[in-house]
Amino acid sequence: MAENTVSTVAEPCSGYVADVASYRQAFRRYLADLDWAQEWRAATSTSAEDQMAHDAGVLARLYQAGWNRYGWPHAAGGLGGNEIHRATYYEELGRAGLPVPAQHWTLETLGPALLAFAPAVAQAHLPAYLAGTEWWGQCFSEPEAGSDLAALRTRAADNGSDGFTVNGQKIWTSQGPTATRLLVLVRTGPADSRHRGLTMMMVDADTTGVTIRPIALASGRRELAEVFFDDVRVPRDRLVGEVGDGWAVAMYLMQFERGMYGYALLTTMLAELATLRSQISVQGTSGTNRDRFARTYIEVVAAQARAAQTVRQLAGGQTIGPGSSVDKLLFSSAEKRVQDLVFDVRQAWMINGEEPAHRGLDAARAQWWYSRAATIMGGSAEVQRGLIADHILRLPKQIRR
Ligand SMILES: Cc1cc2nc3c(=O)[nH]c(=O)nc-3n(C[C@H](O)[C@H](O)[C@H](O)COP(=O)(O)OP(=O)(O)OC[C@H]3O[C@@H](n4cnc5c(N)ncnc54)[C@H](O)[C@@H]3O)c2cc1C
Repeated sequence: MAENTVSTVAEPCSGYVADVASYRQAFRRYLADLDWAQEWRAATSTSAEDQMAHDAGVLARLYQAGWNRYGWPHAAGGLGGNEIHRATYYEELGRAGLPVPAQHWTLETLGPALLAFAPAVAQAHLPAYLAGTEWWGQCFSEPEAGSDLAALRTRAADNGSDGFTVNGQKIWTSQGPTATRLLVLVRTGPADSRHRGLTMMMVDADTTGVTIRPIALASGRRELAEVFFDDVRVPRDRLVGEVGDGWAVAMYLMQFERGMYGYALLTTMLAELATLRSQISVQGTSGTNRDRFARTYIEVVAAQARAAQTVRQLAGGQTIGPGSSVDKLLFSSAEKRVQDLVFDVRQAWMINGEEPAHRGLDAARAQWWYSRAATIMGGSAEVQRGLIADHILRLPKQIRR
């Protein structure tokens, strides 16, 4: 990327915190005048590692200009404001047709929990995350503990003032191959303590005893990882919440994983549909696909309206609880639907196209492949329906055979 120039630098303004509309207008102007916007928009990568490196550069520039720091507290490298500022930031990126830097996906999932339960850890590491010099992975799932997270077996022995010793294995860690730190949910209570015996802690990925083995997805991109812990020493000041409070931290975190993450993702779907609409108007498509476009658009907008309500509740400090399962169901099925429509409208290109004449083909295919997992990751659709049935609709309990 070219060096930043005077025309792309804007002074952060304290007025933006009190007045989201002025933040929106100023950020919109900044993006419209950005002399490297086209470079950012057109950037493509053929590996997860390249994409993370590219997006880290984008984050560094946005951090320097201040824009991605709104919505985060000063104590953690931000410039103040709340979730509504962050939602506005994603909306404006989508409106300008600019992709969300990939690091934001785990930041939205993990950052708020760190701020709420480990402010000192957040203060030490969140500024670097916002500046694009580090990012983290979420180590919850294990080979025998996915939907039933409370069954997890990775163990942390409590050595008092000497901290903890962690042993076990995690799997499906998004951004795991390149993450510098890991937020790990471990068992500190007895083996059968279920959700009562869990604790959350942050572990540096380069600690002795941590082994990260990348997982290549169907696209060939190494976006996830298995993480092994062999006698890994973790200092006590890396606790996120108290010992035994891990379940409460995880539940708090999931509101953001389903709320903020979902809202940000929906802004990218709208951007994707805008691009598709332009392509359809030039190249045409079948009546069936036009009809599907309309239905899909409505589905995305409806999911976003629901997610906007959740974002407002989060900004007001409210607890979302099982209602976040509704958000998760809506945005994950919308994501699949959008990607299926892109695939079908652009079928000849998606199947027969070739690089390098068709820039972005590898990324478009990878996105379609990734969307297959939308209704699995972050809690499967079946499990979300079960939570809604039990805790919102209060239907009779499912009979398990
Ligand atoms: C792309 C991707 C990214 C991911 N990123 C992360 C990450 O960053 N960090 C992390 O910790 N994990 C991550 N995961 C793991 C994800 O959270 C789990 O895959 C998910 O929770 C499902 O768990 P499982 O794979 O063990 O499936 P299982 O729990 O074994 O479920 C298998 C099947 O049984 C169904 N099922 C299970 N229990 C019930 C029930 N009670 N009622 C009805 N149906 C049920 C499920 O819906 C599913 O269809 C990721 C997964 C994917 C695919």
